[in-house]
Amino acid sequence: RLYNEVIELRGNIRVFCRCRPLSPDEVANGDSSVFDLDTTQDTEFQIVSPDSSRKRFKFDHVFGPQDNQETVFAETMPIVTSVLDGFNVCIFAYGQTGTGKTFTMEGTPENRGVNYRTLEELFKISKDRDAVVSYQFYVSMLEVYNEKIRDLLGGSTNQPVKKLEIKQAAEGTHEIPGLVEAQAHSTDEVWELLKAGGQVRSVGSTNANELSSRSHCLVRVTVKGENLLNGQRTRSHLWLVDLAGSERVGRIDVEGERLKESQFINKSLSALGDVISSLASKNSHIPYRNSKLTHLLQSSLGKQVDIILLDGPSSADLGETLSSLTFASRVR
Ligand code: ADP
Ligand code: MG
Repeated sequence: RLYNEVIELRGNIRVFCRCRPLSPDEVANGDSSVFDLDTTQDTEFQIVSPDSSRKRFKFDHVFGPQDNQETVFAETMPIVTSVLDGFNVCIFAYGQTGTGKTFTMEGTPENRGVNYRTLEELFKISKDRDAVVSYQFYVSMLEVYNEKIRDLLGGSTNQPVKKLEIKQAAEGTHEIPGLVEAQAHSTDEVWELLKAGGQVRSVGSTNANELSSRSHCLVRVTVKGENLLNGQRTRSHLWLVDLAGSERVGRIDVEGERLKESQFINKSLSALGDVISSLASKNSHIPYRNSKLTHLLQSSLGKQVDIILLDGPSSADLGETLSSLTFASRVR
């Protein structure tokens, strides 16, 4: 309860920035970091351009190369707990391909990310509360590619995944008929589910990394709660979103399929920016319907949203880094 009040005071959209370490390749190339992080505080940094000019950026929290998965997750924890109180909430990873979106959300077996840690925390709190509330958790996983929605838990590696549509339900809500909701009882089960979904995601592409950088991957956790004292029931969603790479692809460089993909990505990312900035400025019309992504997330963007902006430190990526920082300043 207290957590929610604190967030209300700070505004309901929080933007964090995470700068990954220089990769071994970048180090080998002699790249240096454009991030000047001040270790005495964790909400600001400066970008130093090759001409030595500096720009200052401020966030709700800044994670540097030394910050691990646990530190990042700790910052998103309030939003995770609020889904247990019946709120629809969202966490996004935004950034150029190669900056650590999938590392942050999915993680690796040794360095598990926000998705797994979220479920782990939900199970833990649900156990603490089990004398008062009985919770059930369901996991869905879907992908939006070229404005088409595919169910990543609905197929198997040798069976095509299902295409899904969004259907309007009661006032202000919608359903996704046929979307698989797999009940999850343990963290082991969750890890296996997420892994299976990830494998289905890469089927049909010659290069899994390539395809995953051009589609949005959404994990939806549905929480059903029943208060054992007064019988009150809640149903809420937490969306964990690994967005498609935000890099701008020049028209001259690409054509055909690749151009179409990048146009769909640009359209959906700017639709997301439009929705979040109109929510922040309390506009009466929120343009949810401009993309599948925002339409899917419609009922979960109004309460609490965390955006984790991922950036690479290399001076070679400076242009893209500045453009992702600009996106962030638009939604704050
Ligand atoms: P994206 O999903 O944004 O395209 P990835 O998550 O695939 O990027 O990350 C690209 C590479 O950088 C991967 O090899 C990943 O393990 C590594 N990486 C990303 N973030 C970190 C980090 N904070 N610490 C260490 N390695 C990282
Ligand atoms: Mg990725």
